This record gives sequence, structure tokens and C-alpha cells, in this order.
Amino acid sequence: MSSTGNDTATATHPTWMEFDLDALATNYAELQRRAGPDVKIIASLKANAYGHGIVAAAKALAAQNVFAISTGSFHDAVAVREAGITTPILMFGGNLPAGIADYLHYDLIPTVYNMETANAVSEAASKPTAIYVKVDAGMGRLGIELQEAESFIQAVAKLPNVTVEGVYTHLSFKDAPGQAWSKQGIERFNALIGNLRSGGLDIPVTQAVASSNLMVGYMDGCNAVCPGHILYGLPSVETGLADITPFKPMLTAIKAKLIHIGEFPGGNGLKDGGYHLKRQSRRTGVVPLGLYDGYRKPQDGAPAAVLIKGQRLPIIGVSLEHLTFDLLDLEDVAIGDDITVLGRDGGDQITLAELANWQGCGLLDILMNFDGRLPCHYHAVR
Ligand SMILES: *Cc1c(COP(=O)(O)O)cnc(C)c1O
Repeated sequence: MSSTGNDTATATHPTWMEFDLDALATNYAELQRRAGPDVKIIASLKANAYGHGIVAAAKALAAQNVFAISTGSFHDAVAVREAGITTPILMFGGNLPAGIADYLHYDLIPTVYNMETANAVSEAASKPTAIYVKVDAGMGRLGIELQEAESFIQAVAKLPNVTVEGVYTHLSFKDAPGQAWSKQGIERFNALIGNLRSGGLDIPVTQAVASSNLMVGYMDGCNAVCPGHILYGLPSVETGLADITPFKPMLTAIKAKLIHIGEFPGGNGLKDGGYHLKRQSRRTGVVPLGLYDGYRKPQDGAPAAVLIKGQRLPIIGVSLEHLTFDLLDLEDVAIGDDITVLGRDGGDQITLAELANWQGCGLLDILMNFDGRLPCHYHAVR
């Protein structure tokens, strides 16, 4: 198994994911249109490109001449470099100061939000080295606090071999009150940038806007944006706040091949208290896709199903390595047939939102559960 995903599904484990690189390119073009032609895009590829495969996504975006990509994962960043991709990589943070030397070795741009890390860059650098400063303008996660940011950035800029290439913040939201909160934080962040510039500091790159802002059509005065979710066609705000339809899902399918058909004229399993199956069935299908592969048990009462030839077949058991479903009265079904766990099949489709609903979790939980577990097929840009 590879987290970067070029393996093909084989007869030894016929289960796989399908991704559409054309969707990524289309979403990227739509974001550039929304941000404006002169605004730089720093594409967020954290968490293995939100589970879509960082090397494939980085290659596709490099072909679009993306300004930079970003992640907090050193492991993922090294995979991109080892694939021969030379696009600038902004590291979101996630390291100790002692990790800086390795960052510089792989030509990764550190994010700095404390003096210890800034000093580590100055000590490890043998030539002027770009860093970004992250400001916490209200999210309460990583960053130098807004009130201290001006003096901090001025101090960092004076360190030998440290060049403050960019200053950024992150204020993602999902509902209307969050939208107002995000706008207020971004305005405060932009006031800080104004103060730094009028104090004589040149900051080439400034960024505060991410997917939620771009989805609702908000742009600030910064010269860069850093979208993640929406690049992959994943909504980051509530339905009703923005229209997702201009963006296409990059994850198009999770599929497996039927490995077994069970015939049980008297009904299978235990009537009550059966360990494995949720309900009895006279005809079952099995695919090699279980908890180990990333599929989670549906919540009680959820109408969880798979698709064969456009027909929904209720899932009756999820075990470590297998998924069992009711074949009902479906005819013309044979070992080796494609079973759709997510995606379009005939006249019906199972969406990521539906899967998340059945499993009682978020879209990213599903992506993270499957991440690195299955072979990944990438359909090229048309
Ligand atoms: C994840 C992240 C982003 C992208 O956020 P989305 O909501 O996925 O667009 C931008 N900036 C930072 C610092 C992040 O951690």
C-alpha cells in the first residue's frame, strides 16, 4: 500500500479509490478566477492532500504553475521532493526548533511563530533563507498573537540570514456567525500588515483567505490565498451559505470487486444477537473492504448501501476485512463484478456526504479513514 498511490488494484485485493485530476485543475482555475489573476495561490495539501494523494496533487498543481504548496507533514513534503517536484513548499508548522535543519535540507520553507524557531533558522542557515510568520488573529491554534505580532516580526526580520518572505493567518469558519468573526479577524490582520509596511518592512507575500472565504466570495487586500478543502471539491461551509456546484469532487469513487455470493434459503446468521450480521438475508454479496481498509460501521438505522448496476443493496455487516450486503433479488450478478461503495453507478450515486451521514462523521473523517489504505487510480487531465 502506498499513501501516494500509484499501485493498481489487483486480483489479490480488488479494492481501490478513483480520483479525477481534471476536477482538481478545474477547481484550481475557478479559485484563481475568484481570487483575481494577480493573486498567488498557496495550495493547502496537508494530510496527504486531504487524503487525495499529495504527490499526484502536487504534480497536477505544479503543471498549473501554482505559486506554492503547503503542508504540516514533513513526511509528505519529503515525498513531494523525492518525486522531483521543485515547487516551493510552505511548512505549516508541526516541528520543534531542532527540526529546522532537516526542513532546510529539503528546501522547505519554515513557518515561524516563536523566537526559538526563528533563532533555529538563523543558526541553521548558511545563506539568506525565506521564512513565513504565522499570526493568530483569533483562531486560537498556532501563531504569534496579533498584539505581539508587530514587534515579533520586526525582531525576526533583523536576524542574520532570515528573510521574512510572508506573513499569514488562518480563520476558517462554517456558519454565518463564523463568517462575521473571520472577516473581523482578517481586517485586524490586514491592519497589522499596513502597520508593518508603513514601518518600512517589505513583506512580499501576505495571506489570510482560505476555502470558506473563497466559497462565500470574500476577498481581502492580501496578495495570496491558501485554499484546501475547495480545491478537492469539499465544502467547508454549511449548505445555504455558499454554492458548491462550481467545484467538482476530486474523489470520484471507492470500489471493490465481488468475491463471494452466499445463498441461504433459510436465512443466514443468527436471528438475534448475531455477532457479525445486522439482519438476515437469503442472498449475500461480499467484497474485501472492511474496517482495516477504512470503512466504518454505519450508525443504527442508517440506510447504508452499496451499488451494483445502479441498484442500492443494504449493507448488513462490516467486519475487519470484509463488507457483507444483501443481494436482494438482483439478477445477473457474478464474482468479479464491480461494487460501488462511493460514486456513480448506473442511474444512482453514493456521495461522500451520504457516507459521512451513515457513519455519523464528517467528510474529512471518511477521507482520513481511507487514506493510505487502498490503491489509488488517477484519471488524467482531459
Ligand atoms: C488547512 C489550512 C488552510 C486551508 O484551509 P481550508 O479551509 O481547507 O481551505 C489554510 N491555512 C492554514 C494555516 C491551514 O492550516
